[in-house]
Amino acid sequence: MVLRLSTLFLRTLREDPADAEVASHRLLVRAGYIRRAAPGIYSWLPLGLKVLARVEGIIREEMEAMGAQEVHFPALLPREPYEATNRWTEYGEGLFRLQDRKGADYLLAPTHEEMFTLLVKDLYSSYKDLPLSLFQIQTKYRDEARPRAGLLRGREFIMKDSYSFDIDDEGLEASYQLHRAAYLRIFERLGLEVIPVTATAGAMGGSKSEEFLHPTPIGEDTFVQSAGGYTANVEAVTTVAPDAIDYTDAPAAEVLDTPDTPTIETLVASAATVAPREDRPWTAADTLKNVVLAAVLPTGEREIVVVGVPGDRTVDLKRIEANIAGHLETGGEVAVEAATDDDLKKHPGLVKGYIGPGLTTDAAVLGAESVTGLRYLVDPRVVSGSAWITGANEHGKHVFGLIAGRDFTWDGVVEAVEVREGDEAPDGSGPLVAARGIEMGHIFQLGRKYADALGLKVLDRNGKLATVTMGSYGVGVTRALAALAEANHDDRGIIWPRNVAPADVHLVATGKGTEVFEAAEKLAAELESSGLTVLYDDRPKVSPGVKFGDAELIGVPTIVVVGRGLADGVLEVKDRRTGEAQNVAVDEAVPLLRELTAH
Ligand code: ATP
Ligand code: MG
Repeated sequence: MVLRLSTLFLRTLREDPADAEVASHRLLVRAGYIRRAAPGIYSWLPLGLKVLARVEGIIREEMEAMGAQEVHFPALLPREPYEATNRWTEYGEGLFRLQDRKGADYLLAPTHEEMFTLLVKDLYSSYKDLPLSLFQIQTKYRDEARPRAGLLRGREFIMKDSYSFDIDDEGLEASYQLHRAAYLRIFERLGLEVIPVTATAGAMGGSKSEEFLHPTPIGEDTFVQSAGGYTANVEAVTTVAPDAIDYTDAPAAEVLDTPDTPTIETLVASAATVAPREDRPWTAADTLKNVVLAAVLPTGEREIVVVGVPGDRTVDLKRIEANIAGHLETGGEVAVEAATDDDLKKHPGLVKGYIGPGLTTDAAVLGAESVTGLRYLVDPRVVSGSAWITGANEHGKHVFGLIAGRDFTWDGVVEAVEVREGDEAPDGSGPLVAARGIEMGHIFQLGRKYADALGLKVLDRNGKLATVTMGSYGVGVTRALAALAEANHDDRGIIWPRNVAPADVHLVATGKGTEVFEAAEKLAAELESSGLTVLYDDRPKVSPGVKFGDAELIGVPTIVVVGRGLADGVLEVKDRRTGEAQNVAVDEAVPLLRELTAH
């Protein structure tokens, strides 16, 4: 069916929406693809649905090609399954919770691990039924702290989520690799550059995980690459810890007066006078900075921890957040932030600016009673035998030559500082370079966490009940659409890749006589019957300038103009990307356009 602009439910806008920060948001609204309903929540107009269907179609085909089967779950779900995995609480403020008229708790699902696990538990009982991969293309709800950039970070958005079920680890690895390959094909077909990077599993649990990041300066994720092919989200970069150092002959630690040295800079300056080194000057890297942080649980409860990092490095809260699970009283997702004055008041042992790794000033011995009484975590560079200048837990005093593992100990090692460009890749493949990206997809080896919590077991080869191992895999469908608009636009509008454009040809009729409209009408019908889709600007009494402007804004990659040239038997075929135009004989238009738009 030819889409006619005279009747299409569409009003293009001259003005940018006031809240639009990025081009895709601006252009998708102006070109009449979406309308904002509430913060992070959008309505879809006819043109938007066309593109969405094409994006979904590509994803669906590739998921089916890798052997996954499509199902569809409700978005409105009961509390119980999420209670069983603890995510009702752990998901924190990101979860939309609601009640029915009887007061029973429900949620709008942010992701569906629980439901898929229960569905398979309901229907399958033997290893012979496995492997199994199921997927859906479905609406998700997350009460994002900062919905932004239109569809890129919505509170309601469409995700393709799939889940794999296997009897053993090898099976899981195989299902994971099938998904990984399918994802690479999906993004290739969408024409969206992605880089698979090592990621952290975060609160999802599980072990191996990769994200597919689309490189762009407006991305919210930072990732690093090395020349030798290492790629990782900065959150997942592991520090190569230096070797432990033999401290047998290291002199005893010494507490020295260092008045007015609450910062690393002032401390390094003071160290040069109170205890000058003979071999080289002191640097910030010789100091151990102890930072007090609050890990905030979804319940709002705060657990205060002290993190020790080399003084020349900057603490990275996101990296700590992504890696701190397992080092806290409680598991699950936490937000990590700087401790507040209120937090500090509750721990009088903490002497601001002079905090040390929990030793007393007069008992510099391993196992000495911790002054702070708090959990103490260190950066991986703090290895046994390394010597530090650090706070002595007394105002105006620092301790020099404090040896890790001899004079102080720690409760855990955590990735705590910013990755710097030039840092060595953990696999030795060269120095790291950083860039920004948008997360387009994420694949996880979940393992048995959900199957355990919900009792998904099947009979194994020996007739014994075995817990199924799972993977979980997501692609942001609406986010992909926005990322495509973002990656393919100029100052006049969107330039869709052919695979997802709302039509193959944008046909414009310009002129006053009936001939142009008749000829265009005929061409539209011919193009459609030859298998192409046509968006036909048949609006009478709309100026050519307005029509061209709309065509460029809407972004169909091939624009055909039937107008003045018709008298000479020609029409104009324009490439939206290059702006190049050629005159084509009317008779030759259909075969040429079929060739041009082939994809
Ligand atoms: P992000 O880090 O961007 O918040 P996430 O890690 O929370 O994403 P996943 O739970 O891994 O997201 O979800 C799978 C995919 O769903 C993501 O890779 C992304 O493409 C998409 N997605 C997640 N959150 C949103 C959102 N708020 N709006 C649009 N798409 C989203
Ligand atoms: Mg993710």
